[in-house]
Amino acid sequence: MANTQGKIIVVTAPSGSGKTTLVKRLLAATSNITFSISACTRKPREGEVHGKDYYFFSEDEFRNLIDQDAFIEWEMVYAGKYYGTLKTELQRIWDNGQLPLVDIDVMGALNIMNKYHNQCLTVFIQAPSIEELRKRLINRGTETPESLDERVKKAEFEQSYSGQFNKVIVNDDLDRAAEELKKMVAEFLAK
Ligand code: ADP
Ligand code: 5GP
Repeated sequence: MANTQGKIIVVTAPSGSGKTTLVKRLLAATSNITFSISACTRKPREGEVHGKDYYFFSEDEFRNLIDQDAFIEWEMVYAGKYYGTLKTELQRIWDNGQLPLVDIDVMGALNIMNKYHNQCLTVFIQAPSIEELRKRLINRGTETPESLDERVKKAEFEQSYSGQFNKVIVNDDLDRAAEELKKMVAEFLAK
């Protein structure tokens, strides 16, 4: 049986790299990994469900959780928008004998790495270029001109941290990138 206890998969990337797409493929292809649902204060996008995509909280509720030391890590990822990984969420997943996968921003990923060291596999997903990343965000149709610029600017900054993670995947060809991720996770689980 795969060894899941106390282990974490951390997938991080600048927004628009294809992280969510790759994570969904991985989850569909494996049976012992569970997506760790983050808490956040941004508004749900169309189709997003509380308790499935995120735990959506008001800013006051989120701040209360910070005061209660409820998070492994939290960040103001975008201006005024908090995101965080709840301790109870990771424990829930381990208690089910599963391996949690957290999909978080680069600073949050570095924070988890500093706490969990060898217990976590950190994977940085990279778009082939910033221009391609911008195109993908535009095609996704989720951004305003302002939030698009904010995400692209942040992507340029986050890219400079790629070397700090265990593995980097360039998401040019989606099928190849998905296979790479699957293989990395299988190796980590077998340890
Ligand atoms: P992220 O979670 O990193 O913000 P998404 O998974 O939402 O990124 O992907 C951003 C957009 O790019 C989506 O519309 C997705 O369908 C598309 N996309 C993902 N991977 C690729 C790829 N390899 N080639 C082309 N488009 C892609
Ligand atoms: P989005 O608003 O597009 O869903 O997510 C924006 C960014 O927040 C993404 O880079 C995502 O990975 C990151 N994020 C989601 N959950 C968390 C979390 O719990 N902690 C941190 N630090 N970042 C998160």
